[in-house]
Amino acid sequence: MADAAKGAFAEVSEGQSDASLTGGCQCGAVRYLITGTLHISYACHCRECQKQSASGFGISVPVKRAHFAVSGPLQIWSRQTDSGSVTDCYFCPQCGTRVYHAGSGRAEWVTVKGGSLDRPDALQPAAHIWIRSRQRWFDLPDHVPHWETQPRDEAEWKRMVGWDE
Ligand SMILES: [Zn+2]
Ligand SMILES: [Zn+2]
Repeated sequence: MADAAKGAFAEVSEGQSDASLTGGCQCGAVRYLITGTLHISYACHCRECQKQSASGFGISVPVKRAHFAVSGPLQIWSRQTDSGSVTDCYFCPQCGTRVYHAGSGRAEWVTVKGGSLDRPDALQPAAHIWIRSRQRWFDLPDHVPHWETQPRDEAEWKRMVGWDE
């Protein structure tokens, strides 16, 4: 890990509990640390997530910006969303791994790409969204909430991921 990375990690590691999560890109140049205790993920089957992951669906881990420390040679590709906001997509320029997204619509949050976690099975998706465009070979798990497209508003998002705040 680069020296800059160690510094960033040391800063947020204080008071770090077992609940923290680590991860990084495929080549290891980008590393991150997620602190705080409330960690969930959801799977998104929209075409954008299929493209960005080059796979069947994307895994999103919403994290408050204050609980996210990242280091490494990140680059940004930005895209307009259907709702009119801009999503900045951070990726490693060395290996191309998409690491996290930050949207202008929800400034205090970032969305970490769950497949980049060191232990990706630490989180089981709490919901599946945009199942309208899911790959036909994918069978939805029983008893996991799902949406044809996505939750309509902030309150519904919070219910989906189990937040009552
Ligand atoms: Zn990399
Ligand atoms: Zn998506």
